Amino acid sequence: MSEVSKEYNFRQVEEKWVQSWDSSIYYFDWESEKPQYIIDTPPPYPTGNFHIGNALNWCYIDFVARYKRMQGYNVMFPQGWDCHGLPTEVKVEQLNHITKNQVPREEFRRLCEKLTDEAIVRFHQSMGRLGLSIDWSNEYATMKPEYYVKTQTSFVRMYEKGLIYREEHPVNWCPRCGTAIALAEVEYDSRTSTLNYMRFLAEDGHIEIATSRPELLPACVAVAVNPEDARYQKYIGKTVRVPIFDYDVPVISDPVVDANFGTGFVMICTFGDKQDVRWWMEHHLPLRQTIDRSGRLTDISGPYRGLSVDEAKKKITEDMRDLGIIFKQEPLEQNVGLCWRCKTPIEILSEQQWFVRINAEEIKKTAEDIEWIPPHMRVRLDNWADSMEWDWCISRQRIFATPIPVWYCRDCQEVLVADEKWLPLDPNQTRPPVRCKCGSDDFIPEQDVLDTWMDSSISALSVAGWPNRKDLRMPTQLRPQGHDIIRTWAFYTILRTKSLEGVKPWDSILINGMALGEDGHKMSKSLNNFIRPEEVFETNGADALRQWAAIGGSPGNDIPFQWKEITAASRFQQKLWSIFRFSRPLIDKVEANPAQVDRWLLGELDQLVVSATRAMEGFQFDETMKAIRAFAWDVLADNYIELVKARLYGPDGPQKRAAQNTLYTALETIAKLMAPFTPFLSEEIYHSLTGESVHVANWPKATGTAVDPAGLAIKEIAAALRRYKAEKGMALNSPLTGIMVYSDMTLETFDLVGVANSPVESMTGCPKIEMKPKAVKPQMKIIGPRFKDKSHKIINALSAMDPNIVASQKTAGLIRVELEGEVIEVPPEAATIEIETLSAGEAVDILNLGAATVLVRR
Ligand SMILES: [Zn+2]
Ligand SMILES: [Zn+2]
Repeated sequence: MSEVSKEYNFRQVEEKWVQSWDSSIYYFDWESEKPQYIIDTPPPYPTGNFHIGNALNWCYIDFVARYKRMQGYNVMFPQGWDCHGLPTEVKVEQLNHITKNQVPREEFRRLCEKLTDEAIVRFHQSMGRLGLSIDWSNEYATMKPEYYVKTQTSFVRMYEKGLIYREEHPVNWCPRCGTAIALAEVEYDSRTSTLNYMRFLAEDGHIEIATSRPELLPACVAVAVNPEDARYQKYIGKTVRVPIFDYDVPVISDPVVDANFGTGFVMICTFGDKQDVRWWMEHHLPLRQTIDRSGRLTDISGPYRGLSVDEAKKKITEDMRDLGIIFKQEPLEQNVGLCWRCKTPIEILSEQQWFVRINAEEIKKTAEDIEWIPPHMRVRLDNWADSMEWDWCISRQRIFATPIPVWYCRDCQEVLVADEKWLPLDPNQTRPPVRCKCGSDDFIPEQDVLDTWMDSSISALSVAGWPNRKDLRMPTQLRPQGHDIIRTWAFYTILRTKSLEGVKPWDSILINGMALGEDGHKMSKSLNNFIRPEEVFETNGADALRQWAAIGGSPGNDIPFQWKEITAASRFQQKLWSIFRFSRPLIDKVEANPAQVDRWLLGELDQLVVSATRAMEGFQFDETMKAIRAFAWDVLADNYIELVKARLYGPDGPQKRAAQNTLYTALETIAKLMAPFTPFLSEEIYHSLTGESVHVANWPKATGTAVDPAGLAIKEIAAALRRYKAEKGMALNSPLTGIMVYSDMTLETFDLVGVANSPVESMTGCPKIEMKPKAVKPQMKIIGPRFKDKSHKIINALSAMDPNIVASQKTAGLIRVELEGEVIEVPPEAATIEIETLSAGEAVDILNLGAATVLVRR
């Protein structure tokens, strides 16, 4: 053991262990007899950098993984990378000043892979520095053929089960990204638009309709009213004429129409919103597609053909006002659906797309079999499942994604879905090894690719060995994830696991909140509240950041990043380091019979183990950390160590060895309890004590050791003596003449002798106490106003009287003072009596404690 530095050098310690740890101790053992604990870790998008939000999420996972390992589980903490998707494509387009269609598909894909590989290297560095116990033997990247073969296999199997199909169906479409998106990728935001009142020609005169989207006029396929609306009964079943475009549409009735909105007439277009889709389906209306894939108006829009949605809206509104068709306008607050990625308003287009069937009831039932932490988060999944109207659109018109393994026969249009044995493949590069049913070998490859959630929704299956291992390890034990992706990642994973293997994906799902800026707002560079994990590594170290994650709040809640928590964490580390530095040369693991104070400490330590274990089982990391801090700070440092210092510094003997062993046990146990939270500091302490790694040690087991009441009493006596000296203005080590301790228990005195630096006698039973009046204290504020110029003499006379006589007169209700032969009657409150406490004739101060009475000789 080299000399322990006074200041805890977090940088040196953390960097040393990052370099020297053998990460293979974290590998999952497929052959192990231990119970398995597989974590379905989130595979992040490897774009940009590992941020504080990631750090919070990964700390939670690491706390669980390290704890479970110490509890004897065969833990898998895999790490995946969800590579595919729009964010990377958009980044590549920006960095290279291209659009996806300006370079060959393979070249574009290569650029995306390169960018992703670079980001993965950065993530690796941050994750290593944070001290995460990731199982790198189970790393996966969804863009690699080893992974996307699984995604493609899942596609083929679900297609064969009839759970995936291709159909022309309205889909949410982002005109800027040029792709279909799933309902879960649509964000809503309120905007102010204009409600336009227009006239449509009817058989006799005209009707009035209000709309916020006049550019959809050429997509109008019907006009609807509420069947209860008495004003418009005569129009139902008739037709009206669409202005400008001059064609007739039927007037239908539907109970969903709100008679109080606008004029009570509503225009049904294909498609303005989801309600239009519902009406279109229920009333079997024709399709008039006005907006194309790039967000421009189609041929049926006549003079407006080729204009963007915004241009067309402006132009058509102007024209209709000029013609008097629009006769009134008013502002309208509206919820608008936006693309999650680029915030462009989405359109609803009818397109040939691939869909996954959604069985909302089955998903909800499966979710009930999973433990949700915290429990109320399941409601979010249920609500989402209940809002499902369409199946999950899984085809995307992009490039950097898993290819859909499908071809179409050019001659007979038959769909050819790849055989599982042919996978992985890209139909754009591979021709099918068979001919079409019609005999043709002329195929058109599917250009669309899969939604990236198709990759990540089989993460649980994949880490559990699907589809190749015979001993599939499903369900996995834990899914940790943010609440922002319950309706996507959690929902889709349950759906896919149930569809493919008929099981739930996990036993439990642990929901973490978001990391917020110090100001309580979402962290963002523009708000200037953005902190990078590396900043904290530099200033306070990874253990401090990890402590913030543990103690900042309980799982499920959003947690603001706070420098003051980081500072508190550093201070605690320094405190623990000081305890270690003091103890290291004095302590030892030896056979010893613990003294009363030792048994008090071991009892407290056992309670700490019980409460820390209970909190860890409930994923209450903040509770665990708080309990450890309270113990180390108050119980161990402020009380126990002060009590046993004399023994530790004293001559060898059973009492010294008991203290050495107890303090060793306490430090070793704290190092273990803190190992999930502060892996570096814990390792430094534990390794110094034992020569072994704390990360292969077992979690401490509660032994049922009770707190020794005699030891507890001694601790309380010591605290009372400390307060006594402080009140008297004495130094803590200054000696007292003598201390007598009375208690029903026989208390050991050696620790009290040491801590009070005074002789101590311990006796059973109660002390005999005598209260004796010692002096009279005249009260000028009573005497002065009443006796004016005699006051001074009265005070002198009172002071000279026998305190015993004054005390008994006070009790009788009147004090008689003799002054120059005259007796003056003075009220009892004119004097107080100072009482002296005596025990066996000696003056003492009394400290009354619950379990003992302490007399201090004066
Ligand atoms: Zn978009
Ligand atoms: Zn064919």
